[in-house]
Amino acid sequence: MIAGLACLGLVACHASAAGSEPPAARSVGSAGAGRLSGKVIVIDPGHNGGNAAHPEVINKPVWVGNGRKACNTAGTATADGYAEHAFTWDVSNRLAKMLRARGAEVTLTRGGDSGVGPCVTERAAIGNRAHADAALSIHGDGAAASKHGFHVILPLPVGRNRGIVAPSARLGEAIRDAYRSGTGMPYAGYLGKDGLDRRDDLGGLNMSTVPAVFIECGNMKNAGDAARMSSAAFRQLMAESLAEGFENYLR
Ligand SMILES: [Zn+2]
Repeated sequence: MIAGLACLGLVACHASAAGSEPPAARSVGSAGAGRLSGKVIVIDPGHNGGNAAHPEVINKPVWVGNGRKACNTAGTATADGYAEHAFTWDVSNRLAKMLRARGAEVTLTRGGDSGVGPCVTERAAIGNRAHADAALSIHGDGAAASKHGFHVILPLPVGRNRGIVAPSARLGEAIRDAYRSGTGMPYAGYLGKDGLDRRDDLGGLNMSTVPAVFIECGNMKNAGDAARMSSAAFRQLMAESLAEGFENYLR
């Protein structure tokens, strides 16, 4: 994991992951202004800070197109207690700021990190109502401690989302490629293939009518991934990489 550790320093990671590309080419400065103007992006920070204390709300079943699932869940956390909802909230806000600086209109599916919900169906509906050009749900996985790496989850056709399966796959591949090269994180070795998984049990994908994918940014139960996810500098790098992914898909 020497290569991964090198990525804890932003400069080292840019240098190792981007090869000959000068770091300046990736920065969000005046050169990036307007590149995403006219584009509508919805970012969904997974879970919420008040979810764990309100099971009566988040355990309520909602229809996700092919069955019923819980409205929302509490999410996972690192061994040190860094919660997934806090991680997703932080990365989402960093990403939103970068995308807005490039001219995009960005909506987050929740307005803070201390509330409850919204349900997965409402998170999808926010993207649908916004007629988003692309939507991304940000998560951290809670797999066995020995497993590590990231993966992007693509929708399978479940009724109303049929029209977005193909563009979502393109969005997911763009996000995967940018995240891999930008962060140096490896593909998850414990599920999916080449950093991509396909699921038909996620309301956020099943109920979407706009191109949408999830990313599990790493495994919060793995010590190495947790160290990166707990680092503000590394979260900034994650957000930069995700912004590149959006731009590569949308342009
Ligand atoms: Zn999650």
